[in-house]
Amino acid sequence: MGVKTRVVQVGQHSIGSQAFTVIAGPCSVEDQNQLRLAGEFTQKNGARLLRGGIFKMRTDPASFQGLGLQALEWISSLKKELSMPLVTEITDARHIEPLLPVVDMFQVGTRNMYNYALLKELGKTKTPVLLKRGFSALAEEWLLAAEYVLKEGNPNVVLCERGIRTFEKATRNTLDLGIVPWVKARSDLPVLVDPSHGTGVSALVPAMCWAAAAAGADGIMVEVHPDPAKAKSDGYQALSFEAFGQMMAQLRQVVKAMGRSLD
Ligand code: PEP
Ligand code: MN
Repeated sequence: MGVKTRVVQVGQHSIGSQAFTVIAGPCSVEDQNQLRLAGEFTQKNGARLLRGGIFKMRTDPASFQGLGLQALEWISSLKKELSMPLVTEITDARHIEPLLPVVDMFQVGTRNMYNYALLKELGKTKTPVLLKRGFSALAEEWLLAAEYVLKEGNPNVVLCERGIRTFEKATRNTLDLGIVPWVKARSDLPVLVDPSHGTGVSALVPAMCWAAAAAGADGIMVEVHPDPAKAKSDGYQALSFEAFGQMMAQLRQVVKAMGRSLD
């Protein structure tokens, strides 16, 4: 059973291939030192793509909104230095053009899964799109949101389960791992899992990274910060370097047991 997964190429890396994808990095890009440290450490430990929000969709308008366009120049040169493709959230169709030269994969956040105007604009590019599931979206609605990008001519769509809102308050969201095999039986799009937003608790993240691999996901996206206590966003769910290193050592075993590899 199941559908053969399409491969989505991001830089040198193929998402949906035999390789299990690890996207890692801070929730928000804060400064050069932070992004460099996160990129170097996570890459050395098996991450292939670097994440980091330049524009943030925050619930509270008074909280840190991201560095914005003024940071693009140094981000661009740092990215070349690290030679890691960059995944960042697109929050406004007007930012597609300035971000295009720097960004290797556009992340559509949970709040924008229903922003069909944005999805259509992303469909007019060929840049890969990481489409997060809306926190109250049915899986069917999530797949139909992906169609908005595909229909415009961009075949490079990757899905990302990031937890949904339920009655449970112990975790920030309820990570719906059961939806991974459900989607993979119905769609050829690669499926990633984001255990950071899916749990909202750093101590719970490693187990859900391993579980995502065991559930048949094509990869994970995980928040990692050089100093989580000082993070400008989502520090409570970020892995420290030490925790990331330990998680990756174990992930290597789980991924191998699933017939895949991290490289
Ligand atoms: C993020 O990845 O930092 C983020 C804001 O994700 P989500 O849209 O899933 O909340
Ligand atoms: Mn975050």
